Amino acid sequence: MPRFQRAYVAILAAWTLSLGALAEEKPAHWSYNERAGSGPSHWGALDSDNRLCKTGLQQSPIALHTREAQRLAERDVTLHFGSAKGELVNNGHTIQFNVADAAANAVTYKGDNYALTQFHFHTPSEHHLNGKTFPMEMHLVNKDSSGRLTVVGVFIKQGSKNDALARLWDRLSALDTAQKAEEVDLGALMPASHEALLYAGSLTTPPCSEDVNWIVMVQPIEMSGQQIQAFQKLFRNNHRPIQRDHGRRVVEEAAM
Ligand SMILES: [Zn+2]
Repeated sequence: MPRFQRAYVAILAAWTLSLGALAEEKPAHWSYNERAGSGPSHWGALDSDNRLCKTGLQQSPIALHTREAQRLAERDVTLHFGSAKGELVNNGHTIQFNVADAAANAVTYKGDNYALTQFHFHTPSEHHLNGKTFPMEMHLVNKDSSGRLTVVGVFIKQGSKNDALARLWDRLSALDTAQKAEEVDLGALMPASHEALLYAGSLTTPPCSEDVNWIVMVQPIEMSGQQIQAFQKLFRNNHRPIQRDHGRRVVEEAAM
């Protein structure tokens, strides 16, 4: 083989290798930045795995209205939230607390047990309640043994300092340093009223998978202006806009 041909083959091989490395990388990068071309309106086109973001008929978040919700006498939801141990991380999209002791906290929904795996935050809120948005929203993600999800949404309004989150918030700006085990009292964090709106929705981030049971608490919890600003210094906007509800049924009940 002439020398130039050998060089050509070597370059081609190197090029193919680097393509292979690229193909193994994570799915296309998504963000909340519409101007960068990777924001929520582009998610469905970024990767074929994300197609439900564009074509799904049960997408989240949606605008919720307590007056339009169906009030049922039955109680489908029991929240078992107490102390949670785990680690706080900045994953580039949000601040997330990964729960280490998955069996310690759970939600029972229609008789099935969903163990708490993580909770994280959005600003401003993703769901709307009675035509209003809130400065922030917390999502507690619970999984059953077959991987199905039940997510508890909690609105956060500006008010007094949130003591249950104070220790975590002290560490917000230093999350790129060594991880440290943390503990949060979720029982103290949840709103006093367990009135909740239930509907069938999706993940609010790619791949926007559906069949997510949503339990959105009606009563917000509070955080101080300083605590909200500390989060917004890291994430100015990490919310997905409201999706069409396609006539979905929303049920209101008092979770136990
Ligand atoms: Zn979320």
